[in-house]
Amino acid sequence: MSRPRVVIAGLGETGVLTAVRLAGRYDVVGISSKPALVSGQELGLRLTRPDWWARDYHHPFERLRGLDGVRRVHGELTGLDLEARTVRVTLPGGDSVEEPFDVLVVSTGVSNGFWRRPELETPDQVAAGIDAAHRRLAAAASIAVIGGGAAAVGTAWNAAHVWPDKQIDLYFPGERALPAHHGRVWSRLRGELDAAGVGIHPGHRAVLPDRVDEITDGPVEWSTGQGATSADAVLWAIGLTRPNTGWLPPGLLDDRGYVRTGLDLVVPGARGVFAIGDVAATDPLRSSARNFTFKLLARNIRAHLEGRPLRTFTPPKRRWGSVNGYQDDGLVVFTAQGQRLRIPRLPVDRLVRAHVVDRGYYRGVRR
Ligand SMILES: Cc1cc2nc3c(=O)[nH]c(=O)nc-3n(C[C@H](O)[C@H](O)[C@H](O)COP(=O)(O)OP(=O)(O)OC[C@H]3O[C@@H](n4cnc5c(N)ncnc54)[C@H](O)[C@@H]3O)c2cc1C
Repeated sequence: MSRPRVVIAGLGETGVLTAVRLAGRYDVVGISSKPALVSGQELGLRLTRPDWWARDYHHPFERLRGLDGVRRVHGELTGLDLEARTVRVTLPGGDSVEEPFDVLVVSTGVSNGFWRRPELETPDQVAAGIDAAHRRLAAAASIAVIGGGAAAVGTAWNAAHVWPDKQIDLYFPGERALPAHHGRVWSRLRGELDAAGVGIHPGHRAVLPDRVDEITDGPVEWSTGQGATSADAVLWAIGLTRPNTGWLPPGLLDDRGYVRTGLDLVVPGARGVFAIGDVAATDPLRSSARNFTFKLLARNIRAHLEGRPLRTFTPPKRRWGSVNGYQDDGLVVFTAQGQRLRIPRLPVDRLVRAHVVDRGYYRGVRR
């Protein structure tokens, strides 16, 4: 008897983790517009120290042992037929194929700025994009970071520490940055940014230029009344995310275009369809990319196929995790209660990276 076929639509962070956990048990097919796992995490590290970032966040698929049992299709998802139970994929040459499924996992994420784009890319194009953004910032004497979320704060922090001679400024509309984190996280990081010489500018809401998905150099105008600001490089990290759901029937989406998803990761009204990650409207913070929810998803897919009841997850009310990424002296993680935990480099290397991430998440990484 043939095994149930599970199609993972989007092999980014959550798609890969889910595929790894289902491989071997089912006939798993992973569809991805990228030839590698290119994480959306730790933008600041990626821009300032791309090689260091790549060690943890950029993995060609063939390096991940956990994907050995997954058939990978490099192409762009362009349609879903719920009746026929197939997805349509446009391949790099322009041909289309249909992939049938018993279970479909929607994990196509969101587009955000220049660093998270859904287009089809070759390995060289992925590498060239990462390198070009790094060179652009490295060549600038002054950098303005617009935005108050983790990507903006982490970018300002890393730029100030890697390039102490540059003028770095951080502009955001509210009284404080990191509004989705506990207040203590911003208090702490604000002190560190101050100490590193970053100019901090609350109460600045930028007038958006035509393109915010590239690094710009024109003056920034403010709708909050301040005079225009100039910098050699202006980085827009304003959280203007767009769900990558143009290929899905509108009936599956909420009014902002995200996939309607229960806390059991089921897409209501679509038998055997699940969603996870930034694309899944499970809760106000859309937090199913974090909190080990991929384990729940793998379990619920098994339960669905075996006719057992599904479980749900409890979304956190606040953001938690790392803001600045892995540094030479280790990793700082902020809890949802705002506590700061610093894990020194040796335990991060030996325990977190080697055991938890490389072995636990990916079942081994070929270096
Ligand atoms: C273990 C873990 C730890 C995390 N820790 C933190 C943390 O500390 N702090 C924090 O802020 N966040 C953290 N996050 C969350 C993270 O920042 C993002 O939320 C996460 O990267 C989103 O994953 P995703 O799979 O939804 O999207 P993505 O990783 O963006 O994956 C989507 C994929 O789908 C592809 N795709 C899109 N459209 C198509 C299409 N039409 N056809 C084919 N492919 C397509 C994209 O190219 C991409 O490869 C963590 C996530 C994980 C998994």
